[in-house]
Amino acid sequence: MRHLIALLACSFVTTAASANDAPASEAAKAAAVKTITDSVKPKPVSSPIAGKQMLAPSAPAGAAPATRSKEEQAEVDLSAKIAARLAEMRANQAARVAAAAKARRAAAAAAAARAEAPPATFKAHGNHWSYEGETGPANWGKINADWTRCGTGSRQSPIDIRDGMKVDLEQISFDYKPSSFNVVDNGHTVQVTVSGGNYLTVQGRMYELMQFHFHRPSEERINGKGFEMVVHLVHKDAEGKLAVLAILLERGKPQNTIQTVWNNLPLEKHEVMAPSIVLDPLELLPQRRDYYTYMGSLTTPPCSEGVLWLVMKEPQQASAAQMALFSRLYPLNARPIQGSSGRMIKESN
Ligand SMILES: [Zn+2]
Repeated sequence: MRHLIALLACSFVTTAASANDAPASEAAKAAAVKTITDSVKPKPVSSPIAGKQMLAPSAPAGAAPATRSKEEQAEVDLSAKIAARLAEMRANQAARVAAAAKARRAAAAAAAARAEAPPATFKAHGNHWSYEGETGPANWGKINADWTRCGTGSRQSPIDIRDGMKVDLEQISFDYKPSSFNVVDNGHTVQVTVSGGNYLTVQGRMYELMQFHFHRPSEERINGKGFEMVVHLVHKDAEGKLAVLAILLERGKPQNTIQTVWNNLPLEKHEVMAPSIVLDPLELLPQRRDYYTYMGSLTTPPCSEGVLWLVMKEPQQASAAQMALFSRLYPLNARPIQGSSGRMIKESN
C-alpha cells in the first residue's frame, strides 16, 4: 500500500508539474515529495504497539520476517502492475488526443479547400486597372485574385445616399493643422500625402489622416444627385481600420488648399513633388459639419470592405478654372454607383 500511495503521489507530482509551471505548483510538488519521503522512510519500531500502528493493517504485529518479505514482494509486484497500467492508460489517452487533433485538422483542411476551390484552377495576378474598357470597373474583380470583392462584395462603395435615418449624430471632432505634404499623379488620380499628426475622432475612435485625393465626377450621389468633383480624405486608426471623409465639390469661388495642390503638381506621372511649404487640411472642410455615414469599401481595387464612410452634407466650392485643370488630367475617374443592399445610412438631423 505504501508503494501505491507513493505511486499516486508521483503521478500527482507529474500532473501538477506538467499542467502548470507557476511557482504555486512548486509548493504542491515539494509537499508531495515530502509525502513520498515520509511514506518510504523506514520507521523505527520502538514497541510492538507502535510497530502495529506504523504498519499496514494487513500486516499483523510480530509476523515472521519471511511472511513480511513475501508481502513486500507482493506489494512491489502490485506497484509494478499499477505503474504499467497507468503508463498504458496515459499512452491510450495521448493516442486518442492525437487522433482527435488529426481528425480536426483534416476536417478544417477539407472545409478550407471547399471554400476556396474556384471552378477552375485559374488565379489572376494582374494589377493594371482603369475606369473604362477591358480593365474597367465591371472587370476589376477578375483582374486579380485579391480583388474579387470588387465583383462580389455586398458592402461596396460608392452608393447613392438616400433614405438616411435622421438622428442626432455626434459631431466629428477634427484635429487638423498646417502640415508638410507631397503630391503625386499616381495614374488614377492626384494624391496628396500629408505628414502625420492630423486626426479626426468619431464614434469613440481616433483616425489619422494619411492622404487625400480627387475624383471627377463625384463618386457618391445624394438622393440621385451627383456633384462635379469630390475630395476623399483617407484616415486610418491604430488598428488599421479605415475612415474616409468625402467632401463634395461644386462650382463657385476658388479653393485655397486645392490651388496649393495644383501649384505643386509634378510634371510627370508617378513622380513625387515634396514642396517646402505647408498645407492645412482644415481649410478643405465646409462650414457646416453635418454628415451622412454608412459602412462601405474602398472605391478602387482591392475594394476592401469595413470602411467607415463620412460624407459631408454641405458641398465645398472650387472655381471653374480649378475644376477644368483637373479634368484635363482625369476627365473621368469615378467608380459607378454600387448597390446599397439594404445597408443602414444615418444622417445628421
Ligand atoms: Zn477616393
